[in-house]
Amino acid sequence: MQSRVALVTGGTGGIGSSIVQRLAAMGHRVATNYRDEGRALAWQSKMRERGVDVVLARGDVSSPEEAQSLVADIERDLGPIEVLVNNAGITRDSTFHRMTPMQWNEVIGTNLNSCFNVTRPVIEGMRERKWGRIVQISSINGLKGQYGQANYAAAKAGMHGFTISLARENARFGITVNTVSPGYVATDMVMAVPEDVRAKIVAEIPTGRLGSPDEIAYAVSFLVAEEAAWITGSNLDINGGHHMGW
Ligand code: NDP
Repeated sequence: MQSRVALVTGGTGGIGSSIVQRLAAMGHRVATNYRDEGRALAWQSKMRERGVDVVLARGDVSSPEEAQSLVADIERDLGPIEVLVNNAGITRDSTFHRMTPMQWNEVIGTNLNSCFNVTRPVIEGMRERKWGRIVQISSINGLKGQYGQANYAAAKAGMHGFTISLARENARFGITVNTVSPGYVATDMVMAVPEDVRAKIVAEIPTGRLGSPDEIAYAVSFLVAEEAAWITGSNLDINGGHHMGW
């Protein structure tokens, strides 16, 4: 298997950590961004204990300038980025009639604008080299909507439009662009939801449980494989049957 240079944004988080470990296990050289150096270094040493070496680059993906500089830092250390996983994301939940411009803008900035900010500096190199894998981590709620998440659902739905347009523009350059839409996964983001609300969510999931981060990472490893060259413009729903749509 060919070793590639991979950037997973938000790699220090719940799902991101699993994606980083999966890609490293495939033999790829993996990097991620961070904002808080102390926390990132602690995470990096935890990864080292598991035999996973991850390159860290400082940068907030909601800023075009910081995204550009983190890409430049990683490419200086590892070489051109060949696999990009746009995974960094946040929620700022509120019913829409109470939502502030800040709650709207932070969520659009981190989940959607980040896709532009990070992909833009890597796409030209991928086109020149005629190979690339780009995966967006969207959400079940970008497909079905969610009470209190007009900002998040708008950002996550926007990632699909981004994915299918990029897929069309870059298919002839050996670049595939796909989206993974996880359902509810047991990470800090979901465990922060009050227990009674979580119990109601689990009751709606046919498999009767939350997903695990590694079940999402598995899908990413499938989409970035060399053999997945003809899968582009797709969305992979991974949600225990919680939302089945066409
Ligand atoms: P976490 O909160 O565990 O991790 C989020 C990661 O994103 C962290 O590494 C965080 O870094 C990083 N991040 C957040 N904002 C920024 C920013 N502005 N710039 C750079 N990095 C940033 O979330 P999950 O692992 O649960 O979620 C990962 C992705 O999966 C998200 O896009 C989320 O929307 C999506 N998802 C999650 C689901 C779930 O059930 N957990 C369900 C469906 C989709 P820092 O430590 O600096 O904050």
